[in-house]
Amino acid sequence: MPSHDVLIIGAGLAGQRAALAAAQAGASVAIISKVHPVRSHSVAAAGGINAAVSVDDDWRSHAYDTVKGSDFLGDQDAIEVMCSEAPKEVLHLEHIGVTFHRNDSGQLDLRAFGGASVKRTAYVADITGQAILHVLYEQLMKHHETVDRYEEWFVTSLIKDETGACVGVVARDIRTGRMETFTAKSTILASGGAGQAFKPTTNGLICTGDGIAQAYEIGAPLMDMEMIQYHPTTLVENGFLITEGARGEGAHLLNGDGERFMEKYAPNKMELASRDVVSRAEQTEINEGRGAGPNKEGIYLDITVVPKKRTLEALREIVNIGKDFAGVDITEEPILIRPGQHYIMGGVKTDVDGQAPGIPGLYAAGEVACVSVHGGNRLGANSLLDTLIFGRRAGEHAAARALHTAMPKVDDTKLREDEQRIKDIISRPKDGRRISEIKDELGTTMNQYVAVYREEEGLQKAHEVVRRLKEEAKTAYVDDQGTVFNQDVLGAIELDYMLECSEAIVVAAIERKESRGAQFRVDYPDRNDEEWQKHIDISRNGDDVPHVSYSPVTITQWQPEERKY
Ligand SMILES: Cc1cc2nc3c(=O)[nH]c(=O)nc-3n(C[C@H](O)[C@H](O)[C@H](O)COP(=O)(O)OP(=O)(O)OC[C@H]3O[C@@H](n4cnc5c(N)ncnc54)[C@H](O)[C@@H]3O)c2cc1C
Repeated sequence: MPSHDVLIIGAGLAGQRAALAAAQAGASVAIISKVHPVRSHSVAAAGGINAAVSVDDDWRSHAYDTVKGSDFLGDQDAIEVMCSEAPKEVLHLEHIGVTFHRNDSGQLDLRAFGGASVKRTAYVADITGQAILHVLYEQLMKHHETVDRYEEWFVTSLIKDETGACVGVVARDIRTGRMETFTAKSTILASGGAGQAFKPTTNGLICTGDGIAQAYEIGAPLMDMEMIQYHPTTLVENGFLITEGARGEGAHLLNGDGERFMEKYAPNKMELASRDVVSRAEQTEINEGRGAGPNKEGIYLDITVVPKKRTLEALREIVNIGKDFAGVDITEEPILIRPGQHYIMGGVKTDVDGQAPGIPGLYAAGEVACVSVHGGNRLGANSLLDTLIFGRRAGEHAAARALHTAMPKVDDTKLREDEQRIKDIISRPKDGRRISEIKDELGTTMNQYVAVYREEEGLQKAHEVVRRLKEEAKTAYVDDQGTVFNQDVLGAIELDYMLECSEAIVVAAIERKESRGAQFRVDYPDRNDEEWQKHIDISRNGDDVPHVSYSPVTITQWQPEERKY
C-alpha cells in the first residue's frame, strides 16, 4: 500500500505547483493523474497570467479589479493574498525558465485583458499554460527521489477515517485495471474543473468534475456552484476557445449589422469589459435578431484590425485554430464566435491555505477549489494565477501538517467497495441507455437552461432532467468488459461525477434569486445586496440530496458598489 506525506490528485498547474512546494518543504510526495501530466487541461491555457509587475501598477489595483470582476462575491482576504503574492510568483516562474514575452527594453511585456484597469497580463504568445506546465514538469524532475508520479491512474474515491479526517484515496491503474489504496497524511485535490457537464465547452474531455464530486461525496461543502463562466469568444461550430488575448491585442466584436455593439453595453471598456458583461451583450444581440453569420447565431470577432505581424507572433495558436476548426484565416477575415461554457467559479470550499473546512487532511487548489477569489465572475488570466498561488500555499501547508501527523492506518474497505462498483458497472445488462447519450443530453440541457440567461422555469426543468439522468446513469451500460485501458468504465464513473456537479450547479442557481456576475436571472434582473451578498454552500448530509446553506462574503476594504465598465 503506497503511503506518502502529501498525496496530490491532479498534475495540472495547481497539482504540480503544490508538488514542488511540498517537495521543497521536505515532504515525500505522490502525484496521481488520469492522463500524462502535460496533457492536463492547463496546457490549453492561452492568453496569460495576471500580476501587478509593472512600475505603474499596484497589487491593490489588481485586487480591486478582481473584487469588481467578481461582482462583490469574491472573498477579499483571499483576493488580497492572491494579488499581493502574484508578482513574486510570476518572477519566480521567469527565474525557473518560463520564457515570458519581453518588450523592446527587455522588460516583461504585458497585454491588456478583460476587466483590468491597466495592462497586467504576462504571456508566452498564446501558449502560456503549456509554457508554465512544461517548466514545472522539468523542475519536479529535480525532486525525483521524493516525488513519485502515478501517471494514468484514475482516483475513484477519497477515504475518510472514523475521526472524519481524509487519509488517502483509492485509484485504478488505467493500464492494467489494478486497484490500489494510497494512504497520506495530507491529500490535495487539484483535479480541475467540470466543463464537460456542458455541451459545447472549451474544456478538454478530461474536465469532468471528479474532485468536486469526490469531495462532496465525503461531506465537503461546495461553494459558488451557480457561477458558471461563459467565455465571450468560442467558435460557433464546436465551442473551441479563441483567447481573450485577441481582444487584448485590439480585436473588435461586430454584430450582424457590422456595429461595434459593445459601445451600448460598456462604453469605457468596450470589448474588454469583464466576461459576464461581454457574453451577455453578445447573447442579447443574438436574441434580438442582430446576430451575424448564416443563421444569425453568432457574432464576428474581427482580428484583422490587429497588425498581421503581431497576430502571427503573439496569437499564432488561434491562427491555426481558425484555419483548422473554422476554415477561416483570422488575419484576413472576421471569425464567427459566440459565448460558450468555459470555467466554473465554484468548487470545493477552502480557506487561503487550501484546507477544506470540517475535513482535516483534505485540501483543494486550482479550478476544483473555491477559495473564493473569483466570486460571481473570474477575470481572464486570473485562473492560472489562482492555480499557482493556492497550489503553492496548499503544498506548503499540507507538508507542514504532515510533519506533526502520524501516517494513518487504512484498511481495504473502500478498495473492495470500489472494485465491486466497477465490476457492477461492467456487468450491467445492455438494456439501459448509452453513457454517451446521457452525457450528451446532460450537456445540451445545461447549455440550454443554465447558461448566460437563466430563469426559474428553465432551471427547474434542468433539475428534473438531471435527476432523471442520475437514475438512468445507474443502468447505463459499457461495451468494454476488459481490464486494459478500459476507458469505457471510467467514462461511466465520470458521468456520475458530472451529474453530481450539475445537480449542485442547478440547485444553487435556483436558490440565488438575484442577478450577480455570471448568474443572470431574467426573473430577478437586479443585484440584491441586502439579501444575496452571501455565498451559497451546497453539501450532502449523508443522503443523495443537495442541502443549501449560506456563508458570509469577507469584505476587507472594498464595499459593494454599482458595477460599470
Ligand atoms: C482552452 C482554455 C484556455 C484557458 N486560458 C486561460 C488563460 O489564458 N489564463 C488563465 O488564467 N486561465 C485560462 N484558462 C483556465 C485555466 O487554464 C484552468 O482553470 C486551469 O489551468 C486549471 O488548472 P488545474 O491545475 O486546476 O486543473 P487541470 O489543468 O485541469 O488539471 C487537472 C488534473 O487532474 C487530473 N485528474 C482529474 N480527475 C482525476 C481523477 N479522477 N483521477 C486522477 N487524476 C485526475 C487530470 O489528469 C489533470 O492532471 C483556460 C482554460 C481553457 C479550457
